Amino acid sequence: MAYILGEREFWGLPFKVSPAVLVPRPDSETIIEAALALLADHARSWRLLDLGLGSGCLLLTLLHEFRAARGVGLEVSEDALAVARTNAAALKVGDRAELLLGDWRRPGWRDRLGGPFDLLVSNPPYIEAAAIAGLMPEVSRFEPKLALDGGPDGLAAYRAIATEAPRLVVPGGRLLLEVGEGQAPEIYKIFQSTGFTAEAPWKDLGGIDRVVSLKY
Ligand code: GLN
Repeated sequence: MAYILGEREFWGLPFKVSPAVLVPRPDSETIIEAALALLADHARSWRLLDLGLGSGCLLLTLLHEFRAARGVGLEVSEDALAVARTNAAALKVGDRAELLLGDWRRPGWRDRLGGPFDLLVSNPPYIEAAAIAGLMPEVSRFEPKLALDGGPDGLAAYRAIATEAPRLVVPGGRLLLEVGEGQAPEIYKIFQSTGFTAEAPWKDLGGIDRVVSLKY
């Protein structure tokens, strides 16, 4: 439906969508809720990073809420990046956002991002590759596989991010990562092995541990 209408609301803000991006979901608003609680001074000039922008709903909503923050976003799909740029301009946060094309599956992907950042957010692909065909048809048939496919065990993107995360955030900085149902314990382990401290997960509206919080 969102692809037909070309728009979906997220955190009360209108986001343009196309079949190149995942449709923003209420579950992902959990990241915004956590960020607003953890970065309590909303007027500070926080430095934010979003890996896997899609529509831009995470980074652009954060820039809308943290009025003095600046953000960098990475996106692998040129078509998705164009959607995110359109949304950045429409939400009037484009002057504080640097939206870049890049692929965390390639070595050296971190080099152009700058930083270090106070907060890294991501809703990476986390569905086990073999499970995609069994998802609801509106997801499996219409949403971009690139935004869903987390490799054989669903965790490939987290491993790639964990490898570079220590060089992307400041000491005391945070990661807020959306995860699939039941994945939180494994993902905590992956990031603890690269020097992060686990904090309590954040639950979505269905009571599922949806966002893992990690402190550097
Ligand atoms: N939440 C999405 C779904 O269940 C998956 C999004 C993702 O892989 N990041 O369809």
